[in-house]
Amino acid sequence: MFNLVIFGGPGSGKGTQSDKLIDRYGLTHISTGQMLREEIAAGTELGKIADSYISNGNLIPDKLMCEILADEIDKLAPAAKGFIFDGFPRTIHQAEELEKILERRGMKVDHVVGLEVPDEELTSRLLNRGQGRADDNAETISRRLEVYHATTSPLRDYYVNSGIYRPIHGLGSIDEIFNRIIEAIGQNV
Ligand code: ADP
Repeated sequence: MFNLVIFGGPGSGKGTQSDKLIDRYGLTHISTGQMLREEIAAGTELGKIADSYISNGNLIPDKLMCEILADEIDKLAPAAKGFIFDGFPRTIHQAEELEKILERRGMKVDHVVGLEVPDEELTSRLLNRGQGRADDNAETISRRLEVYHATTSPLRDYYVNSGIYRPIHGLGSIDEIFNRIIEAIGQNV
């Protein structure tokens, strides 16, 4: 098993680069944002709870999010060569839980790919995003960035300290950025 976390602010290109990494390495994608949006679209109980947080730019509570993640890992693990975690972890607590969840299953995170993009660029990408996501409006975007800096960006140091953080300059074309990622992790796959 080879597991990656793709890390960065909202709009940093996590989803785009995940798709390319999946093609290259045959990884299985776990995008918590996408999973939650599917629940919302299907109108499930979980979707209703998720929507009350997402539409305000807030995070889903850790305990609930970790349960959802562990279930998804168990569902997908039998057919997976490795995972790419996109949008998870988003708090130190989630990172600690991910470690435990993986350890219990004989796995670990091999690399954390950190897409480093300045806030002004994140804001303009999100405002221009073509997919018309309900949480891509000016007010929610500024709240998501605030939450990112307060709660998620401290994870960078957490992973730097554990020696698996690979900083990636996140400006440039999609392929340029992808090549930087390959260079950073390529030899170790
Ligand atoms: P982006 O990174 O572009 O903001 P995501 O699709 O990763 O988008 O997430 C969208 C929203 O889903 C987040 O703003 C948050 O409300 C919720 N969410 C996704 N992943 C998590 C998580 N790991 N913990 C808590 N909330 C999450």
